[in-house]
Amino acid sequence: VIKLDHLSKSFGTFQALQDINLSVLQGDVLAIIGPSGSGKSTLLRCINWLEPANSGRITVGDLSLDCSKPVGKEQITTLRRQLGMVFQSFNLFPHMTVLRNVSLAQERTLGRSRREADEVSMGLLERVGLADKAHQYPVRCSGGQQQRIAIARALALDPKVMLFDEPTSALDPELGLEVLAVMRELASSGMTMIVVTHEMGFAENVSEHTMIMADGQILEYGPSREVIRNPQTERARRFLRAVN
Ligand code: ATP
Ligand code: MG
Repeated sequence: VIKLDHLSKSFGTFQALQDINLSVLQGDVLAIIGPSGSGKSTLLRCINWLEPANSGRITVGDLSLDCSKPVGKEQITTLRRQLGMVFQSFNLFPHMTVLRNVSLAQERTLGRSRREADEVSMGLLERVGLADKAHQYPVRCSGGQQQRIAIARALALDPKVMLFDEPTSALDPELGLEVLAVMRELASSGMTMIVVTHEMGFAENVSEHTMIMADGQILEYGPSREVIRNPQTERARRFLRAVN
């Protein structure tokens, strides 16, 4: 579903991503790990065009964009329509109920009626274990609940691929577990996912593939267990020793 060819991104003279080549197949779950500043968030932001890459190609489904050429607004919209994004911070609207938070974008971007959107939202809130919170405001929800609402909101737009950037790192470990359980369920339902994470357990037990990044490059990529238990490079071994 997602293919990156020779993707590069620099900020001024600093090269944040260097010649990234990557394929993620339908139903695949990829964990991205690596030291702080290695370019993990930048990679997700480039895939989503929140940060335009300087060169290379991004292919999502039928859409293939050459990053070295000017790309129109409609194409960026088409790209984003296929991607659900969940960040470390949940960014829910505080003045709207949980249900409205999940429904709003469906009405605006998919043209669903309010009734239709609310119905989809309720189903998804049930799926993430929060149907009873539908009519509350986000402030009345824990961090873990808010993140699950953010996941429901992203799923409501029927993305082909879900992108997660450290979805649990702002949460207490216990609340993080609730979120990880939802992500695990999502993975086993066949959703294609790219997950930047520090949770080695998720990488090892949930994701089929793991990629280790360092200095804007892919250091290691392969089946999760192999990459985590038997890394080929000294740099990767050093990183894994530090996080374990
Ligand atoms: P962390 O684990 O801390 O989240 P990361 O792997 O996600 O790190 P990125 O946020 O992708 O790292 O940043 C990669 C590098 O690019 C860093 O050195 C960062 O300072 C730099 N960088 C990121 N965004 C910008 C920006 N908008 N302008 C300039 N430099 C940036
Ligand atoms: Mg980051």
